[in-house]
Amino acid sequence: MHPNHRRVALIAHDSKKNEMVLLAREFRELLGQCTLCATGTTGSRLQAEVGLDVECLLSGPMGGDLQIGARLAVGQIDVVIFLRDPMTPQPHEPDINALVRASDVHDVPCATNVSTARLLLRQMASQLAAAGSDQP
Ligand code: PGA
Repeated sequence: MHPNHRRVALIAHDSKKNEMVLLAREFRELLGQCTLCATGTTGSRLQAEVGLDVECLLSGPMGGDLQIGARLAVGQIDVVIFLRDPMTPQPHEPDINALVRASDVHDVPCATNVSTARLLLRQMASQLAAAGSDQP
């Protein structure tokens, strides 16, 4: 695998799913070059509305965040884009906290709002572009 290849996990709470779709459209080219996984509903929308190849895990409330956290803990996820809804209590709050904590424990970038996600994705895009221009 190319050293700049990134495995990206995508999660959006219900009120943030439209923003996730817009973000994924904006970075369609970059995300198309990454290995993607997502919680169930988020992943289905990214497949259907952006045409991305995404591995859909369980829905968040059914354990999807925990699946992503487990992968992250064993080094299988490089970047997390997690558009959380800070205004609505979630039934799986402990799972959400576990995932964010795991990203801090393992020092994996985790963007929890669109502005941070854009910064992260732009950085990834320029790394890839620089790696591309290094090729003979
Ligand atoms: P979903 O899960 O993508 O399956 O909706 C996200 C969540 O609500 O945690």
